[in-house]
Amino acid sequence: MDIDSLWENFGRVSDAIKAARTVLDALKPDEMPAQPFMAIVTQTADAQVQLAELRLSIDAMQRELQANADIDARKQNYVPVKTEVGALVYRLKPDADTGEPEHDVCPKCFEENRIRALQPTGTIYRECHTCESKYQYEERHFVW
Ligand SMILES: [Zn+2]
Repeated sequence: MDIDSLWENFGRVSDAIKAARTVLDALKPDEMPAQPFMAIVTQTADAQVQLAELRLSIDAMQRELQANADIDARKQNYVPVKTEVGALVYRLKPDADTGEPEHDVCPKCFEENRIRALQPTGTIYRECHTCESKYQYEERHFVW
């Protein structure tokens, strides 16, 4: 079920609850036995609470979908490349119009929908400060 269907169902249930409330408000309590009347009032109130919770869930799902769409759009600015020694990283495309300086990002975070720039370590590695993965950029130079 997609978000539009959820909202459609939400609208139908909401309308049904409003109709039930209208009927209940029009009824005079002495026109029906008190126990069924109160049961209907309680069930209608419960349905309203569930509807409010459903609305919050749908809102959260919409925010998550939007966030995923945003990160997917940002990921389009990167291309997989290999470092000098063959480590796979993602690099900002030269023609990407992001206003950011050239940089590489962590492939592990990239696959988990996070864009995290790899930072120099002063060694042959660059490091992701989020997941702490290290990627080798140069051959190791031994000093004899
Ligand atoms: Zn990372």
